[in-house]
Amino acid sequence: MSTPATLCVRPGQPANLIVRGARVLDPRLHLDAYRDLVVRDGEIAELAEPGAAAHFEGAEMVEGEGLIALPAFVDPHVHFRVPGQEHKEDLETGTRSAAAGGYCAVISMANTEPPIDSAAVLGSVRDRAEREASIPVGFVANVTRGMGGAELTEMAELADAGAICFSDDGRPIADARVLRRALQYQRLAHGLIALHEEDPDLSAGGVMHEGRVSAVLGMAGVPSVSESTMIARDCSLAVFEDAPIHVQHLSARASVDEVARAKAAGVRVTCEVTPHHLILTDEAVRSLDARFKMNPPLRSEDDRRALIEGLRDGTIDGVATDHAPHAAEEKEVPFEEAAWGVTGLETAFAALHTELVQAGVIPLETLVERMTCGGEPFGIEAPRLETGAEANVALIDPELAWTVGEEGYESRSYNNCFGGRDLTGRVLMTVAAGQVAFRQRSFALGVAS
Ligand SMILES: [Zn+2]
Ligand SMILES: [Zn+2]
Repeated sequence: MSTPATLCVRPGQPANLIVRGARVLDPRLHLDAYRDLVVRDGEIAELAEPGAAAHFEGAEMVEGEGLIALPAFVDPHVHFRVPGQEHKEDLETGTRSAAAGGYCAVISMANTEPPIDSAAVLGSVRDRAEREASIPVGFVANVTRGMGGAELTEMAELADAGAICFSDDGRPIADARVLRRALQYQRLAHGLIALHEEDPDLSAGGVMHEGRVSAVLGMAGVPSVSESTMIARDCSLAVFEDAPIHVQHLSARASVDEVARAKAAGVRVTCEVTPHHLILTDEAVRSLDARFKMNPPLRSEDDRRALIEGLRDGTIDGVATDHAPHAAEEKEVPFEEAAWGVTGLETAFAALHTELVQAGVIPLETLVERMTCGGEPFGIEAPRLETGAEANVALIDPELAWTVGEEGYESRSYNNCFGGRDLTGRVLMTVAAGQVAFRQRSFALGVAS
């Protein structure tokens, strides 16, 4: 992958390193072999037989035995809270958090304060990213002004100003006529529309999934049809306007079914799923812990199984964290009043590796593929571990066991739904856009002379 113009990153030192004898795994290239991985001036210079890579001046030697070198991950859905809510996250902490999770590129949503609905606001966050972002960030612009759902933004102007795509994420586009017009303008703007699918009338007042657990707890629920009916509507609009759409954070079996049906019928639709919807269910909400409150909500075990199946068979294109940092005081309140959303960049790989790969539910190759290709609908190519490519590499210890704590995050917030869990697999080092963007504090490197 070379960094497209829609992505912004702080200029830095190109990496020079030799990872000796790691298992180098790139499922797309059908590559799974022990190699010396040589990064020179930020590019993958060589994949040599173990022990065969020659030292060169200034190269850091990294002992790769027992480690796996993967193409670094791409997250098409994070909330970096810039501008306006930097007390939750900013571009420096957000990109550091992403790099700590093995990511080499992310797409940041536009439900900020103010929202990113004008070229002026977009230009200012892009400028900040050029100074502060340790990995490339693409910025979303809003579909409607002020995220009000009524009046369209200047989509063509926003595309020219560097918007990577359009979304009102955080809110649905309830008015079908507004979305229809946006899909028409999208043709001029050449930007994909990413959709938070929720029928506000059906979900009104709900704070968790509508089901057995909500009935027991006596809480108002959000039914899964709130999501699936909107997906069906929007797939129909996409066909009618011959435009592509991207469906964000699928949570329900009915939603997977709608996307599968649409794809089979030739609709240009892509979609994503989060680690928390793949691992947790509404049973977690019995604890009344607000770390389990997010939108869409955690649903039933049957929904979770359908999401896993969709990820496995490719109905679901990629994994997105929907990393949504919140201040502690917004979460340490009764469940009904708590803010929606969880962080997830630093736990995504380990959580999915532990709960899906080690549990024998999906192969590691499938997980790696789905965690790397999530940016493709938006023009971010999945990184490749091949000679001549820009270095985007996550170096992972697949056996390292750790407990997700309250502290130790690079993110400014710690509203993580996997807190307290024992996970296996940890990112030790991330190279993003040819630069070393993260290394674990305990992971010492030697410098060859
Ligand atoms: Zn959303
Ligand atoms: Zn979101």
